[in-house]
Amino acid sequence: MKLCFATNNIHKLNEIKALIGFEFEILSLADIGCNESLPEDQETLQGNSLQKAEYVWKNYQVSCFSDDTGLEVDALNGQPGVYAARYAGERCDFDDNINLLLKNLSGIKDRKARFISVITLILDGKVEQPRQNRDFTYIQFEGIINGEILTEKRGQKGFGYDPVFKPEGYDVSFAEIEPEEKNKISHRGIAIRKLVEYLKLTN
Ligand code: IMP
Repeated sequence: MKLCFATNNIHKLNEIKALIGFEFEILSLADIGCNESLPEDQETLQGNSLQKAEYVWKNYQVSCFSDDTGLEVDALNGQPGVYAARYAGERCDFDDNINLLLKNLSGIKDRKARFISVITLILDGKVEQPRQNRDFTYIQFEGIINGEILTEKRGQKGFGYDPVFKPEGYDVSFAEIEPEEKNKISHRGIAIRKLVEYLKLTN
């Protein structure tokens, strides 16, 4: 089965290919001729995730799934949340976001945080799911990992906030563990395994 992963994030694409590339043929946006950036201006992870998949389905009629991830930090009232990618501003990079996060948490002891991923699948537009008022149907899968924000960056692997996120039960950051290990426990790994179970049950 061919499925497009609706992301322009090469790190995410590689993670997903390592997770399910042997079971499904994962197409990139470039593979389907989509070279534009996908819209994601909703106020929830569910909304953004759906918006990206919907864009690909409507413009390219390719079965696809998308991921939207947020980082909720308790001491910051759930921020950066859905705005994790643009936390330090529209043109910011991973380092800018991390630096702002560390600054906003300086001196704070409670550093509990979690990554939440919402994956939206549109499978030939035919997946059955009630509560949808659209001319296609979709289904969503969620994955959560709890952890805490470190006081400084650790490790070189991964991407995004990985150097400052320490998953619960581990003494290392996401950026210090091998990608396969991260995939076993991560928010996206959990959501993706739910997606795979669903695909196996329905096909
Ligand atoms: P988005 O889902 O691409 O919008 O990601 C939101 C923000 O969270 C971006 O800054 C990403 O770099 C970051 N992010 C998403 N997934 C991960 C992850 O697995 N580890 C660290 N940061 C992530």
